[in-house]
Amino acid sequence: MNKRILITGGAGFLGSHLCERLLQRGDEVLCVDNYFTGTRRNVEHLIGHPRFELMRHDVCFPLYVEVDEIYNLACPASPVHYQHDPVQTTKTSVHGAINMLGLAKRTNAKILQASTSEVYGDPVVHPQTEDYWGNVNPIGIRSCYDEGKRCAETLFFDYWRQHNLRIKVLRIFNTYGPSMHPNDGRVVSNFVMQALQNQDITIYGDGSQTRSFCYRDDLVEAMIRMMDTPDDVTGPINVGNPNEFTIRELAEIVIELTGSSSKIINKPLPQDDPTQRKPDISKATSELSWSPTVQIREGLVKTIEYFENIVRNEAAESTN
Ligand code: NAD
Ligand code: UDP
Repeated sequence: MNKRILITGGAGFLGSHLCERLLQRGDEVLCVDNYFTGTRRNVEHLIGHPRFELMRHDVCFPLYVEVDEIYNLACPASPVHYQHDPVQTTKTSVHGAINMLGLAKRTNAKILQASTSEVYGDPVVHPQTEDYWGNVNPIGIRSCYDEGKRCAETLFFDYWRQHNLRIKVLRIFNTYGPSMHPNDGRVVSNFVMQALQNQDITIYGDGSQTRSFCYRDDLVEAMIRMMDTPDDVTGPINVGNPNEFTIRELAEIVIELTGSSSKIINKPLPQDDPTQRKPDISKATSELSWSPTVQIREGLVKTIEYFENIVRNEAAESTN
């Protein structure tokens, strides 16, 4: 029997690749999305596949379907987008988690939460281990996302303790790759799009803040491995690439790989922007037998290729 798998946020950057991977494996995939930051274009090549179904739905409202597994990815992930309607962001994380956990309880489905390194806030422990409780501002402009995701983790563990639900919590660190939206607003898509169009590269602050960038395919592989772990593996487990770069280093690599004539300019650092971030992935290595295989230059080359196509198509459309 094929597994019936629900992916919320399935038309987004990570969700659309997860849909592809699970279809390739032979599963039935129900992709649910309200298209806030995702787009039908990300999954249009899957429409018509006999095991694929696409449904417009907002996870803030209950969903009645029959499934064996749930990957709960619905939530805008880019600061620009999650801060656009912060109340909706918290609702998506919290009401969305309640609705999807309720669905998992009724159908006895396994459920995986796409949590985030943001639960560590602006971390004072470096690299971040799962037992670190974090340093989060509860009332700042990032809180709708950080606290929403923290509350979702709380709900997952309470459903596990109270109702014996089979839960899997992954804390995802910065991930990039093809099928990111060109206007996503996150650093990799911004820098690559700016470089390809020879526009100024916008570093927020002095660029000394660090991030550790994981390639999409590595991350989605970790999600699938996590779902397939024995029931006693609940997480939370960090997943990401532990190679750490300053944002200035990232800008320089993007300029080098695109051969761009863009100049770097500095813009104000947004409030509460974390100064450093790097996952300790010992747990992922031991419990998922997983570690990233694609390093930054290789991943960026593939990502640049993807955005080059978009820029080319946009240019062709504007001359028609
Ligand atoms: P994304 O914005 O491309 O995808 C999120 C998807 O959720 C979009 O398709 C969006 O339309 C959908 N969505 C938003 N609100 C919804 C709602 N109320 N109901 C239904 N669908 C809704 O972002 P992504 O990078 O693919 O992130 C996927 C998940 O992984 C998110 O939960 C995010 O928090 C988590 N995550 C991602 C990263 C990363 O670096 N990519 C890091 C940490 C955590
Ligand atoms: N950033 C930047 N220029 C941009 C976009 C982002 O310098 O055009 C910085 C941002 O201030 C942060 C880092 O890059 O320090 C990563 O930002 P992103 O929005 O990708 O994700 P975050 O890790 O902050 O959630």
